[in-house]
Amino acid sequence: MTDPNGGSLRQKSVGKYAYLAGVCILFLMIAAGLKMWTDPGNRLLRRNKEPLVQSGFLFDTVISVSLYDNQKQEILDGAFALCRRYEDICSPSRRDSELFRMNHRGAGVTVWKTDSELPDIVRLGLEYSEKTDGAFDLTVQPLSELWDFRSGKAQVPEEAKIREAVKKIDYRRVSVEQGCIRFQDDQTQIDIGAVAKGFIADRIKEYLLSQGVGSAIINLGGNVLCVGEKPGGEAFQIAIRKPERESSEVVKRLSVRDQSVVTSGIYERCFDLNGVHYHHILDPKTGMPYQNGLSSVTIVGPSSGICDALSTSCFSLGEEKGMKLLDGTDGYYGYMIRLDGSIRASAGAPE
Ligand code: ADP
Ligand code: MG
Repeated sequence: MTDPNGGSLRQKSVGKYAYLAGVCILFLMIAAGLKMWTDPGNRLLRRNKEPLVQSGFLFDTVISVSLYDNQKQEILDGAFALCRRYEDICSPSRRDSELFRMNHRGAGVTVWKTDSELPDIVRLGLEYSEKTDGAFDLTVQPLSELWDFRSGKAQVPEEAKIREAVKKIDYRRVSVEQGCIRFQDDQTQIDIGAVAKGFIADRIKEYLLSQGVGSAIINLGGNVLCVGEKPGGEAFQIAIRKPERESSEVVKRLSVRDQSVVTSGIYERCFDLNGVHYHHILDPKTGMPYQNGLSSVTIVGPSSGICDALSTSCFSLGEEKGMKLLDGTDGYYGYMIRLDGSIRASAGAPE
């Protein structure tokens, strides 16, 4: 049988199928394009996009991790899980933290065995206690726990208590071996507040690198560690703030690639009473905050742990000795800001 209209009918349906196929292909192309654009791992297309950021409150401060070349939320989740693990080890106030349990180890107990990184953090602190001859002293805890710079109450501890605490400070009563911290007595207590955030930032960086991240900023309450550079090849810009409470005025901008920027200052954990400014970097000899004409010390260099240790150490040593320590540390430079606002750069500083 021959359908007189058969030919044109077939032509019509072929045309309709070709049209439908065309629409389908176009749709698939748009969908593929969209997927590529939103693909969390697509670095090429994400180059100039906003970073993926997660913030939180840990280590008694506001922290954030920003990924510039990767949009995988699970990497940020992993970084924050790591932070929570370090909080379990390092919190000075949580009674269940490893640090608290070690500091309250009980009568007669002089050895603390552990498979955590606590001995590594203590080793870093002891190294700088030695380098500063005790101006920075990792065993300052009995003294630092007397001072309250957090609640907003302006109160100087009783003199007798300060004298008692000062007697308990001496970093030479502590030593570290593999997996073990040894004390000469059961009274000596450790304060890792001056080094822990830097140490932890270095560990977060290692984790990010292991996940394939090559461009990121880790900010643990102003303790900043840059991973690589911006995806376009530019340096990260890190600002040094004017060392005054609640000031957002910038005194210096630093161009930083794969380096850490850490500041120790007198303007965040502090109070004023009867015309005296009291702050959280304490002189282990007098028990009082250092009054040495410095307002802040900023250190730049590859290891955030060393920057953190150096910033508090150089502050504790004061301008001349502090600069000497910094100038003698290869690969690190920095700036001291005096109370009158003038700035002194170390020998290795750019410009
Ligand atoms: P931040 O904690 O604001 O980052 P730092 O790194 O300078 O600032 O550390 C200050 C902390 O170091 C204090 O809060 C205290 O826990 C501890 N600390 C205070 N004085 C000394 C000192 N002389 N030696 C070692 N640690 C100190
Ligand atoms: Mg420090």
